[in-house]
Amino acid sequence: MGFSAKELDIWKQEYPLLTEIMDHKPVLWMNPGLKEMADVPVLPVTINDIKEAEQLWQRFAPFLEIEFPETIATNGIIESPLKEIANMKDVINHAFPPAINGDLYLKCDNELPIAGSIKARGGVYEVLHHAEQLAKEAGLVKENDNYEIFSSEKIKQFFSQYSIGVGSTGNLGLSIGIISAKLGFNVSVYMSADAKQWKKDLLREKGATVYEFDGDFGEAISAGRQKTLADPMAYFVDDEDSKHLFLGYSVAALRIQNQLEEKNIKVDAEHPLFVYRPCGVGGSPGGIAFGLKQVFGDHVHCFFVEPTHSPAVLIGLLTGAKENVCVQDFGIDNLTEADGLAVGRPSRFATSISEHLISGIFTVEDDNLYRLLTLLVDNENIHLEPSSTAGLLGPGQVVHSSYMESKGLDGKNATHIAWATGGALVPKSDMKKFYEKGKELNVNLYSLI
Ligand SMILES: *Cc1c(COP(=O)(O)O)cnc(C)c1O
Repeated sequence: MGFSAKELDIWKQEYPLLTEIMDHKPVLWMNPGLKEMADVPVLPVTINDIKEAEQLWQRFAPFLEIEFPETIATNGIIESPLKEIANMKDVINHAFPPAINGDLYLKCDNELPIAGSIKARGGVYEVLHHAEQLAKEAGLVKENDNYEIFSSEKIKQFFSQYSIGVGSTGNLGLSIGIISAKLGFNVSVYMSADAKQWKKDLLREKGATVYEFDGDFGEAISAGRQKTLADPMAYFVDDEDSKHLFLGYSVAALRIQNQLEEKNIKVDAEHPLFVYRPCGVGGSPGGIAFGLKQVFGDHVHCFFVEPTHSPAVLIGLLTGAKENVCVQDFGIDNLTEADGLAVGRPSRFATSISEHLISGIFTVEDDNLYRLLTLLVDNENIHLEPSSTAGLLGPGQVVHSSYMESKGLDGKNATHIAWATGGALVPKSDMKKFYEKGKELNVNLYSLI
């Protein structure tokens, strides 16, 4: 399949950046569709939806606290710290010039409870939302009940007649599998070929049924969708088109607003906020960008990062064809070691919103993900999975471009947040291999400094 040579030539003529993208070269694309908030058209979700999503999290907090003791410290709220990484900033300034102006923070979603990745926001939210819906319809709960009741045998019995399905490259499957099994659902996870063995093992241990596919994420998700929707008692979490995943992620914006206030970090016209998010289908970075834009308006600048071999959202937005094209159509192989980013086709729901809100997208080579992983361990003692490091190249990309100038910004007072997306559950032996791989690559890096 894919486009013919002649069709590709036409695409390339219209969008010259495609030539480099198709050569797997790292690129920076500025979004010509970015709008000032006053000019953004009516979107399918609003700030009220985010607030309602936050209330759902609050209702379920007593349940989460009982079932996941790691959330006791935060009273059943699934949240991660925001950490300044000044040592890493110095290292990046040497290793990947030009130098960053302003302060660099890491949003540590690698530490999120339950799933050890950003999927603990969207994935857990969508399953809780569905569970609440079923329980309400059956007259088992009302919204002002104490949701500890979701821990009861009676409710688990009730949910055991229902199934949940999801297609995943690994992390989404983990979050859906773990929370669904805890509530008593029958849960099936359809895993793409690149999914790590430990993720499949862990899911089976938690009681999920894991199906393995030879193909990529797109194939796993189609098979999962088809099998799940054939069962009237089943619900499919559709990463290619989900409003609920999107809203679950978006709540992070309200939380980070509080965290920035606690640290006395201003966000306004003189103090711009830059946020860099590793991107797969675009749901988690899209949901968070949407939330941040509702909270900080034009003072926040959101960038997505994709692997050079999986630029799904980049191609979708650059060409305007969005979910109607995939990277394979352009002869790009979608082979990357970045778990969670090995995605060929963007989310329909998320991309139709992100096209108005994001400042740009850049791509990174896998080797740089390992380099950053190792540098972050050595300089901050923080352990991420490779995909999760991608945002750290963001500030350099922006400083190197004419973006600040074009927006009339002076980067001096900027706050940069690289959003880490996974890592806590990676087995020590795998983490050691990642670290060593980065160490080898960094030998060259140090000789450059
Ligand atoms: C899923 C995932 C992402 C990207 O999220 P999307 O919603 O697919 O764009 C980034 N990093 C990690 C570690 C992930 O698991």
